[in-house]
Amino acid sequence: MSKTVLDRPGDNTRRSAAPAEDSSRADAPPRPGLRPVGPQETVTPTMFGTPEPRGGRTILVAEDDHSCRSALHHYFERLGYRVAEAADGPSSLRAVFSQSADLVILDLGLPGVDGSEVLIKIRRHSAIPVIVCSGQDSEDQRIRLLNMGADDFVVKPFSFAELEARVRAVLRRGVVAPASSQIAHGDLVVDRGTRTVTLRDEVIPMTRKEFDLLAFMAASPEQVFSREDLLERVWGSTAQWQGRSTVTEHVRRVRLKIEDDSDHPRWITTVRGIGYRFSAPEAD
Ligand code: CA
Repeated sequence: MSKTVLDRPGDNTRRSAAPAEDSSRADAPPRPGLRPVGPQETVTPTMFGTPEPRGGRTILVAEDDHSCRSALHHYFERLGYRVAEAADGPSSLRAVFSQSADLVILDLGLPGVDGSEVLIKIRRHSAIPVIVCSGQDSEDQRIRLLNMGADDFVVKPFSFAELEARVRAVLRRGVVAPASSQIAHGDLVVDRGTRTVTLRDEVIPMTRKEFDLLAFMAASPEQVFSREDLLERVWGSTAQWQGRSTVTEHVRRVRLKIEDDSDHPRWITTVRGIGYRFSAPEAD
């Protein structure tokens, strides 16, 4: 089966301050509302057999290349997704925080705020799944982006079918903890929509970062996170420029608020030599 291919390799690695159009596709001038059709584009969604229900999930396509963005929009729309678009870094961030997208397809080469910076900023506030697209394929970059909180990664040129398979896989994983939902463990309820924490029906006041930390850990119970993991995933930072003690201190403060005895924590336990784990204590 032939593939639907986007962009040429390297197209997207430039950090150009130019407006939101890529000049590299002079052969496919952007025409709003029309699907750009190139010689490589030979596969339509109907050729993949009976479409699976995609349940009206909303995908945000953050991509400055108009042709690419528009092609992705139409492709995913025909498969039953709702699609929103953003053409630069700042509008991508606004869209993530103001719309209820279920997943972001994030191009790394975005004007304004580049893609990796957008990813860091998203992860400060949101657990929304993010699949990064890049023109570069290096192991270092993949590792760095995955550590920064990307859920998956595709390298240009990529096939639409492959990207869609990855979108489905990431959304399946996300079903465990949808970004907009409440996380409830026994008496403890973390509501990411209203950013409130209640314990035994009592609201527990939290600072922004205390909330982010607890919400992040509570979304992945029993998983052990190192302080470095938490710095990256919750703070969008690294140990190089923010001390790991930031994490230690915030864990201490969250424990003071939610633990009955913060010297013998039951919700957030220390895994010696590694980091921390959130678990729901068994009922007494
Ligand atoms: Ca780009």
